[in-house]
Amino acid sequence: MSSLKWQRFFSGEILKKHSEKHARAVSKSKLWFKGFDEERIKDRKDPFATKVFQTSLWEHRTRVTLEDFRLSRSYFFGVFVRNPKNEDGSLRMYPCYLTNDRGKACSKQCDPFGHHAHVCDVTNKTLDHNHCRDIVKSMGGAIGFIADKEVVVCPWEKKPDVELVDPTGELLTIYLDVTLPALHQEAIKSRIDVFNRARAVKNKSYPRKDEHGRLLTESSCLPFILTSMGGLCEEGHQFLRVCRKRNPEKTKHLIDVLVTQHSRWVASRMRRALFGQATSSAVESCDHEQQQVSAQCARTTDFRTQPVKSSSRNTAGSMKRLKAAFFNSIENSKVDSQIGQDGEIFHPSPS
Ligand SMILES: [Zn+2]
Repeated sequence: MSSLKWQRFFSGEILKKHSEKHARAVSKSKLWFKGFDEERIKDRKDPFATKVFQTSLWEHRTRVTLEDFRLSRSYFFGVFVRNPKNEDGSLRMYPCYLTNDRGKACSKQCDPFGHHAHVCDVTNKTLDHNHCRDIVKSMGGAIGFIADKEVVVCPWEKKPDVELVDPTGELLTIYLDVTLPALHQEAIKSRIDVFNRARAVKNKSYPRKDEHGRLLTESSCLPFILTSMGGLCEEGHQFLRVCRKRNPEKTKHLIDVLVTQHSRWVASRMRRALFGQATSSAVESCDHEQQQVSAQCARTTDFRTQPVKSSSRNTAGSMKRLKAAFFNSIENSKVDSQIGQDGEIFHPSPS
């Protein structure tokens, strides 16, 4: 009886119908950011992403500050975080305030949604990535695996992020590699492509066969791809299903911690990019072990963040697609009104 979801029981299918109605309305609308919003809705529909609304608050890792809550939810709901229009009606862009640990500031502009914050190439996501890896590792241990991170596996030059050994010997050893791509990228237009692209990169780093098709290793490295919007790749879901079979309670807790911490990473990037404020809460709500880890990461990133100079990197993150969508919509609306004034094609109401 306790497992019966009373709210869902009484509300029937109301919420589901609302969301379907909204998705239909967006797909038919003339909103200039329609393409972005359609992908956003698809990604937010991911069962992993929706868990952020159902986390239990009994542990400090499943809680965020009010400010982080507002910023991350604004991003998830696809609303403007800052004023989107200039006085003359043009799209208002904000200077990106992100700086890296050497003090180099981003020269690009951030859109009022905050999408740029997740593709900004001044900083990398090593801290968030390592935090995610450590959550999976420590909670994988709680679920009943023998967990380790950054292990050396024979044919691969790159170390998989997490190794999970099944002590009962029933399952093959699981290797995971964590990736946190942005959902809205300049060249990649759909969430499926975001996953496929990340997957292809991972397959190259962890080959199973050599160029002649001979099997190099029995083990395979699963990608654990979590987009900035909160969607998780199919392999990630598969991994969670395996965990759930082992220990449903602890797996639920793992998901709660992951989605909550994910929303904190999102909020912190948005705050740094759009408002230029340092992440004070990022330190406050970490426990002691994780503080040490992040201190270590900060030190290692000193060596890792080499400035990459290439033409493709320089155009990345300039939000050209979003700007183009806005200007196209302006052009179209001008054309519409002109046709209307001529009174030939435009029929205001069917009689
Ligand atoms: Zn930037």
